[in-house]
Amino acid sequence: MVRHIRRALASGLVLLASLGSCDDNTIVRDVAIIGGGASGTFAAVKLRDAGKSIVLIEKEVILGGHTNTYQDPVTNQTVDYGVEVYHNQQFVKDFFDRLNVSWTIADPNFITSVTPQFLDPKTAKPVNYTPPDPTAGLQAYAQQLSQYPDVELGFFLPDPVPEDLLLPFGQFIEKYPDVANATFTICSYGQGLGDELKQPTLYVFKNFGTDIIRDIATGFLVTTGQGNYEIYDHATKLLGHDVLLDSTVVNTTQRDNKGVELTVQTPTGYQKVKAKKLLITIPPKLDNLRPLSLNHRESDIFGKFIHTGYYTSLVNNTGLPPNYTAYTASPDTQQNIPKLPGIYVVTGTAIDGVFDIKYGSPSPVPDEDVKREILSYVRKLQANGIAEKLPDDPQFVAYNSHAPFELTVPADQIENGFYDDLYSLQGYRSTWYTGAAFHTQDSSMLWNFTSNYVLPDLLA
Ligand SMILES: Cc1cc2nc3c(=O)[nH]c(=O)nc-3n(C[C@H](O)[C@H](O)[C@H](O)COP(=O)(O)OP(=O)(O)OC[C@H]3O[C@@H](n4cnc5c(N)ncnc54)[C@H](O)[C@@H]3O)c2cc1C
Repeated sequence: MVRHIRRALASGLVLLASLGSCDDNTIVRDVAIIGGGASGTFAAVKLRDAGKSIVLIEKEVILGGHTNTYQDPVTNQTVDYGVEVYHNQQFVKDFFDRLNVSWTIADPNFITSVTPQFLDPKTAKPVNYTPPDPTAGLQAYAQQLSQYPDVELGFFLPDPVPEDLLLPFGQFIEKYPDVANATFTICSYGQGLGDELKQPTLYVFKNFGTDIIRDIATGFLVTTGQGNYEIYDHATKLLGHDVLLDSTVVNTTQRDNKGVELTVQTPTGYQKVKAKKLLITIPPKLDNLRPLSLNHRESDIFGKFIHTGYYTSLVNNTGLPPNYTAYTASPDTQQNIPKLPGIYVVTGTAIDGVFDIKYGSPSPVPDEDVKREILSYVRKLQANGIAEKLPDDPQFVAYNSHAPFELTVPADQIENGFYDDLYSLQGYRSTWYTGAAFHTQDSSMLWNFTSNYVLPDLLA
């Protein structure tokens, strides 16, 4: 009986806490966080642990952003076909330990244990391409990168921005030919960057940095449980009523130096949220930020972002041999980097007969077109005799669009101080930002950035 009452009291307290202290059903918090992917979830856990009250608003029905874990309904085997690996860094281990997520350092030889085939992105026929040994090229690249250590921490750029960082990467490797042999390796890690040879070298340096070079040699950190979604599943349970899933901000009635007041659409109706500070972690595209009543200064900055498309899928009935892996390589492009839009890679997974197929584009593509192209590629593999034609057609067991993916601006905007303007918004109108557009598409590096450059202000 006493236990019953305690439980009822406890749940009542949780409910009261979740509703905050206002009579009118308003959630009142120190910090409201929008977006429960890698950065938003990390910030929520860290702020709560440091004694701040928070509410985390996520538009999907689960946290995790680009993390896609598929579980086979028959065998329960899981496959990560979104985020796969993390950096071997103490703060990553600490975060996973906090969430009771087990981890290990993967065997670095795992990457080289598979011998991939190289296929034409259009015809799906083998191309006469053998990737060069990237070792010396990676050393030369690391040497170049070492001139800009702050770029690996955030968009902390020298003034003026060095010409090399603004050069399209294709021109950079012409200027520094000793780097060229590493290009295919760099670009295969840079999936989602769109036409990587045309991207300013700054974005390539941020995407493929010192941590990746080290972890390729010594091993990435990976989770060892039921896939990477476990991180977000455990965080969801830890944060409890402080997470509003399937919810979006639809209106902002206040956002000034005194705090913010938002209207959030939740599955059970509209909910007011009042917070002293707001942390935005969603891709800061104008259409995504519209309900936050941007002013001219903010719209002008965020309106400059352009973005790529990146799509992930799991396909069965392919007829491909087990453990088959193929990268696309164009026969007639600089360093054989595949032309996009198109397939990046086809890889076998831990689920028998299920293949991971990734697709990229310099600009977004409708999902129906991406799906049609992926299935058409599998049929070409069958027609070319690389895969066996099965009685059943290839079909998706999972598919996710990650667009808008890489948010970038053209080189002249970088040169003209875009990132100074962007970072000058930190704290403006009681609003702070983190997430890939503010640093790079890398969970571990974003956790580092959030810890060092964003949380201190939110904790002050
Ligand atoms: C296929 C793929 C593989 C990757 N592999 C790796 C890897 O192995 N290792 C690695 O470190 N990184 C990897 N990345 C990159 C990594 O996923 C990103 O760096 C990281 O997720 C970015 O975190 P974020 O917080 O900026 O954004 P996200 O994780 O995308 O989080 C943004 C969140 O905001 C939500 N949201 C969007 N709009 C709204 C809105 N209006 N209101 C409320 N919520 C909203 C989204 O649903 C999402 O949950 C990969 C990415 C992809 C796509």
